[in-house]
Amino acid sequence: MWSQNLKLPKQTTKVKFMEIIPYSTQLIDEQDIAAVAQALRSALLTQGELVERFEQELADFLGVRYVVCFNSATSALYAAYRACFSQGALVITTPISFVATANMLLACDCEPVFADIGFDGNISPESIARAIEKVDSKQRLQGIVSVDFAGKSADTESIRAIAKEHNLRFIADSSHAFGGSVDGRKIGTLADVSVFSFHAIKPITTAEGGAISTNDKTIYEQAKLVRSHGLVKKRLWDTQVAQMGFNFRLNELQAALGLSQLRKIQAFLERREEIARIYDQAFAGNPYFTPTHPAIPANHTSTNHLYPILLHKELYCAKEEIFAMLWEKGLGVQVHYKPIFLYELYANAIGLHKDSSGRDSRTNALDWYQAELSLPCHQVMSDEQVQYCIKQILEICAKSANSLKSSPRIHCV
Ligand SMILES: *Cc1c(COP(=O)(O)O)cnc(C)c1O
Repeated sequence: MWSQNLKLPKQTTKVKFMEIIPYSTQLIDEQDIAAVAQALRSALLTQGELVERFEQELADFLGVRYVVCFNSATSALYAAYRACFSQGALVITTPISFVATANMLLACDCEPVFADIGFDGNISPESIARAIEKVDSKQRLQGIVSVDFAGKSADTESIRAIAKEHNLRFIADSSHAFGGSVDGRKIGTLADVSVFSFHAIKPITTAEGGAISTNDKTIYEQAKLVRSHGLVKKRLWDTQVAQMGFNFRLNELQAALGLSQLRKIQAFLERREEIARIYDQAFAGNPYFTPTHPAIPANHTSTNHLYPILLHKELYCAKEEIFAMLWEKGLGVQVHYKPIFLYELYANAIGLHKDSSGRDSRTNALDWYQAELSLPCHQVMSDEQVQYCIKQILEICAKSANSLKSSPRIHCV
């Protein structure tokens, strides 16, 4: 009888949302749906063979020895940090990331030291060197965490050299960058451990999900323990627990979706690159902003998870207006990211970066926050939508620039 209560209303009231073109989104096709349906009919919905197969195929794709899947990149970051850092460690990282990169350091009782970024949005080796110089306790310093911003690899060669010189672990948060590469070497092979996200809007998706990739067996085994309660199977029913862990597992439905998505990664990346190049051409020489994509060196393959543009200084104070007007026209632009050290939780993060007058010297990160907007760029966009976005962004920037000319705002540089 209770099933009566579950009846859905006969007529669902349709709410009409304005169609927004998001900055990134998933592409799910009938193959993906069939793969998940098949997994639903199998005997094991979790801890079956699909997760293992997904891990193996990811490892083959990346050209790495070990991959461990997780229920999110956040869990994967936690596992990577736990495997690499001890309590109380200082870890140098980038302020321009999703907050999980730093939050998981706190979760592992580590202390983030925020460096600065370069024009590509990635942590700059120079600012890492400056941070190392200023750290009081070199013993506590244990690692560097980079982010491959927008899907373009950080300068891993320089970071590896710094890490080697100072005996530091190097972890790459490659949540934006699955499928990217440098000199033909896949992102995922360029740090001690790399972390990927399979969140819906990342390059491939399992709805929620993540993974680590590494060639280090100790890290691999540690990560597996953290993923599943610290449990080690002994004999028959007997198990052993030497350390605590969580349930951070990916399930079989997610793995089925991941395996199906992995088949399409090349097509997704090609379409994103195609759109990025159309944008590059349309925006070349415009007086309002500079896109970061045209400056990506030829030996890098970016996933173009984001297509960032940097507003010119004169338009910083019009950014709110531009953002709001773009949304009004259906462009789901976003800002990536507010520097993490500006969050309340991080207000007391080590103040290595104040100059003698008390000003923050991470000027690039602060500038970036005023300048950056991420435009829609993904595999679901039609050519018409791409042209529509170009037209809207140029028109709206022109409008803002003109209204600034007629009523200049003092606080605008
Ligand atoms: C998306 C993202 C994460 C978190 O990924 P989840 O899978 O949602 O946990 C972490 N770091 C960066 C840089 C991200 O973009």
